[in-house]
Amino acid sequence: MSGLWVLQCRPGFEAECLEEVCAHSGGNGETLSGAVSIRTERDPPPLAELVFARQAFRQAAALQDLPPGDRINPILAALAAHAGPVSAVLLENPDTNDGKELAAFFRRFESPLRSALAKNGLPVRRDASRRLHLLFTDSRRVHIGFSEGGTGSPLANGILRLKLPRAAPSRSTLKLEEALQVFLDERQRERWLRPGLSAVDLGAAPGGWTWQMTTRGLKVIAVDNGPMQRELLDSGLVVHRREDGFRYRPTRAVDWLLCDMVEQPQRIAELVAGWCLRGDCRRAVFNLKLPMKKRYACVQDCLERLGMQLRQAGVDHELRCKQLYHDREEVTAFIALL
Ligand code: SAM
Repeated sequence: MSGLWVLQCRPGFEAECLEEVCAHSGGNGETLSGAVSIRTERDPPPLAELVFARQAFRQAAALQDLPPGDRINPILAALAAHAGPVSAVLLENPDTNDGKELAAFFRRFESPLRSALAKNGLPVRRDASRRLHLLFTDSRRVHIGFSEGGTGSPLANGILRLKLPRAAPSRSTLKLEEALQVFLDERQRERWLRPGLSAVDLGAAPGGWTWQMTTRGLKVIAVDNGPMQRELLDSGLVVHRREDGFRYRPTRAVDWLLCDMVEQPQRIAELVAGWCLRGDCRRAVFNLKLPMKKRYACVQDCLERLGMQLRQAGVDHELRCKQLYHDREEVTAFIALL
């Protein structure tokens, strides 16, 4: 079914987001700031299958020139044909400096908007299947629409906000924390991240990713020529190996391979393929640092080659990739051998 869709992404990656959705769903569209608007031939896949989009909804209306004295009535009029309960009302903004300035406006606007929506046939009910999205590009312009299930995110702007733990050795720790939340469900986190399990962390220093594992009781071999945080080494769970991450091999298979080395993405994908093919790890989380140009093609190429190598060797696996909120010029991938 064709339709007009609005998707949010990291600012600067609009072209990649558009290219990716068009490759899956056909159609064409335009880039906005921190978002894209696309008329597709088929519905886009769930967000979990898209690398660059973090939020998505089917557009019901787009309003320009909302009068500052009365924004609510035009919104109600646009939604008149869409009455019915919603599970959430998400006031959203692009992840740009201009977008962030809308926070104060949202604080004033949210409560009167919600009560007006409830009185006019769009009450919030937790058991409702659809979410209402209002993506403001500024305080006068809004894209309005709906998402259901995995087509959109229940989080405003699709952003998982995480607090930097005081004991963490680096901000990078948030990338892995987010990856573990996004790629694993609660049961998998309980089963696969517990004392007694092991990990190798390539490019570990100063230790943000290693710390995510040791706080869950895993033992980690941290491979990096750079220094690791002292407290981590004192935990008794970490062995620091000052070696080249491309040459290092574990003496015994580990549960997790982590890799945050700054290197060409094709080299990293090749390295991870080797670990999986030799059975050196059961699961991996790895970062692909993106080049300046052809970033969508580069990600596709890395994932396709990795997937093909494993399929050809008969290694059943699940492979996912996402540009996380805490990723910058990079994406994070997850692989689990089945
Ligand atoms: N994940 C780390 C954290 O959370 O603290 C940050 C890693 S930092 C982005 C990249 C690290 O990769 C650097 O410490 C660098 O020394 C290391 N690195 C780059 N090339 C490497 C190689 N060939 N072998 C081992 N480490 C490497």
